Amino acid sequence: MAAARMPDTAFVPTMGAFHEGHLHLMREAKKDGRPVCVSLFVNPLQFGPAEDLSRYPRNEQRDFDLAEQQGVDVIFAPVPAELTDHQNVSIHVKGLTERWEGAARPGHFDGVATIVAKLFNIVLPNVAYFGWKDLQQCLVIRQMVDDLNMPVRLEFLDTVRESDGLAMSSRNAYLSPEEREVAPRLYQTLQTASREIHADADIDGVLHSSRQSLAQSGFVVDYFELVSLRNLEPIRARSDCALIVAAKLGTTRLIDNLRLVSPQT
Ligand code: AMP
Repeated sequence: MAAARMPDTAFVPTMGAFHEGHLHLMREAKKDGRPVCVSLFVNPLQFGPAEDLSRYPRNEQRDFDLAEQQGVDVIFAPVPAELTDHQNVSIHVKGLTERWEGAARPGHFDGVATIVAKLFNIVLPNVAYFGWKDLQQCLVIRQMVDDLNMPVRLEFLDTVRESDGLAMSSRNAYLSPEEREVAPRLYQTLQTASREIHADADIDGVLHSSRQSLAQSGFVVDYFELVSLRNLEPIRARSDCALIVAAKLGTTRLIDNLRLVSPQT
């Protein structure tokens, strides 16, 4: 596909099914003063064979209306073949993709990086907006942009949450009413762990009791770890790191994280 050559653009890549998290990215992009382009593309390359591609929520007309209400100038909503027809090149970011979501979802980040690179080449944005909600994705894209000298500035924005703390996610729609009631405990557990780590508690003990308390609430925990914000390796530190969690409630896999900065900053 030929590049669209929109000059001077702020770009928000998404998979649609918009919630306030997406709309926040659009509004912040708008503040940049440039025309805003939002892509709406449920990227098949980032879904594993056993994952939820076919049941991923889709509502294009609602998404178009919501984007327009945020002042978005262009929506790019390609049909899958436009971006996936040529699959002879794939971008693999080493290291950062090995653990966590990369381990749970083999090939996921290759799919993300390849499609984000293609979107960057089509939209040619000056600046692109992503959410810290997908912390590992942010670091993977930053590494790709740095290593491939891509001429785009990246902005990462904080997670938008429901009033009870649950991180907004298109996948929250899969939760049963009972699971939806339990789901905020994910963030509450992150907050408790963060407070305890800042209060100098033993970090291994904090991580262990966090995992236990989530399991007691009905979560099947994939990981609950403290990792370096530099390389995502487990670390025992009290700043420049992040608590990351992935856990299943029923069939729904939820992820969340909390970055730890030193209390005095
Ligand atoms: P998705 O449509 O899930 O691929 O998400 C598109 C962009 O929105 C990604 O950069 C996500 O990290 C970001 N995002 C998703 N959920 C949230 C949220 N609750 N708060 C802020 N950004 C989010």
